[in-house]
Amino acid sequence: MSQLANQIAVVTGAGRGIGRAIALKFAAEGADVVCISRTQENSDKVAVEVRALGRRAWALAVDVSDSLSVTAAAEKILAEAGRVDILVNNAGITRDGLLMRMSDADWDTVMDTNLKGAFLVTKAFTRAFLKQRSGRIINISSVIGLIGNPGQCNYAASKAGLIGFTQSVARELASRGVTANAIAPGFIETDMTAELKEELRAALLKQIPLGCLGKAEDIAGAALYLASPAARYVTGQVLTVDGGMVM
Ligand code: NDP
Repeated sequence: MSQLANQIAVVTGAGRGIGRAIALKFAAEGADVVCISRTQENSDKVAVEVRALGRRAWALAVDVSDSLSVTAAAEKILAEAGRVDILVNNAGITRDGLLMRMSDADWDTVMDTNLKGAFLVTKAFTRAFLKQRSGRIINISSVIGLIGNPGQCNYAASKAGLIGFTQSVARELASRGVTANAIAPGFIETDMTAELKEELRAALLKQIPLGCLGKAEDIAGAALYLASPAARYVTGQVLTVDGGMVM
């Protein structure tokens, strides 16, 4: 029996990496998927892969930090799909730099995408979740939001903020049958980490007890658990998936 049979999932940042893996994992478990990324081309490609798994897919280009675009997209999705059962706030970016040299723009862009984006998209679907008295919200945070990282004060603040956001939403919506949880991935092989210099990669590996970087599928497996019936009684939690890096 498929774990997400006939459910409808919205995944932001579904065009590549972790979001793509989540979209495909959910489709393989019977969900229809709304694929959102910045570029239509990337959303389209993943939607084609979802359809190849026998599920319905929608492909949208939406900047999650833009309130009007998010509201319009949510209205369109709810009109066409009729309901949404699972929301994964995965869209995220980095603009790294040391505090002393970080521009206001790099701070704002990261906060707007990683934190405000999750707020806007969650808010846009909350009325529907409340009305149907069910829903699963899954926010992709990061271990960097738990322990910080030199050169990433903007990213760490956005990902730590996402944890507080998740816990507050979990408390607000629990009585209506809606859960909200976060996943804190460690270092995962995607475009985001492809540019890591060799020395930094070697130093990182020394801090990971399981001795390797994670794969996007590792995060997709955790997201599937939080979306599945098995996590019915789990809310407000942060599930760390990092090879043991933070414990
Ligand atoms: P990628 O850079 O591979 O992909 C990011 C995705 O987010 C892309 O599809 C991109 O769209 C989309 N996106 C970026 N900005 C926006 C925006 N403003 N509006 C809509 N979509 C947007 O990232 P990863 O797969 O590596 O990361 C996914 C999430 O996981 C992020 O939140 C990241 O912070 C988090 N994470 C990643 C870790 C890692 O090691 N990789 C570790 C911990 C957390 P497009 O395809 O159109 O460019």
